[in-house]
Amino acid sequence: MLAAMTQQIPGTVNGSAFAVGGWEIDILVTGFPGKSVRHGSLGWSTIALIRHGDRLALVDCGAFGHRKLLVAELAARGLRPSDITDLLLTHTHYDHAVNWVLFPRARVAVGAVELDWALGEPWGETVVPELYVRELGLFPKTERIADGGEVFPGITAHLAPGHTPGCLVCQGHPTSRL
Ligand SMILES: [Zn+2]
Repeated sequence: MLAAMTQQIPGTVNGSAFAVGGWEIDILVTGFPGKSVRHGSLGWSTIALIRHGDRLALVDCGAFGHRKLLVAELAARGLRPSDITDLLLTHTHYDHAVNWVLFPRARVAVGAVELDWALGEPWGETVVPELYVRELGLFPKTERIADGGEVFPGITAHLAPGHTPGCLVCQGHPTSRL
C-alpha cells in the first residue's frame, strides 16, 4: 500500500524498519493466525510502529499473550508504552485490540462503523472483547474515524468491510503534508 522505494534505516533493531514516503515503519511483531483442531483459534496480530516527526503510532496492539513481547520490542528501541502518541486499530477483534489499555496517553483511532458494530455484538458469542470494547467506547481519547478520515499525518483510513463490518485499511499519501 505504501508503494515507494524503500531504504533500510541505520541503527534499527534486527533491520526490521524501513523508510517510505516520510514515515519510518517498523514491524514489532509479525502476525500469525493460529488455529487448532481441538482448541479453537488463537490469533496474533501484526503490530507495526510508524514514526513521523515527534509522533509515534502503533497499528494494532495485539492480545494478552503479546504484552511482554510488545513492551520488550518497544524497550529495544528505547521506547515505553507511554511514548506512543497514536494507536490505529484496524478492527476490534481481541487479537488486534485488547492491548489498547497499555497506551493511556495515546489517541486511539478506531472506525466509527467498527466501534458501533462491536458495541452491539452479543456478549459471550464472538471474538470481540466485550469489556475492552465497552471501555474503548467510553475512553476520552478514542476517536471514531469516518471512512476516508486522516488517522496520522498523511495517512487515511478506509472502510474495508468483510473480515468485520467496519474493518479499516490505511493508505499513505506521501506527497501530502510530508
Ligand atoms: Zn480479526
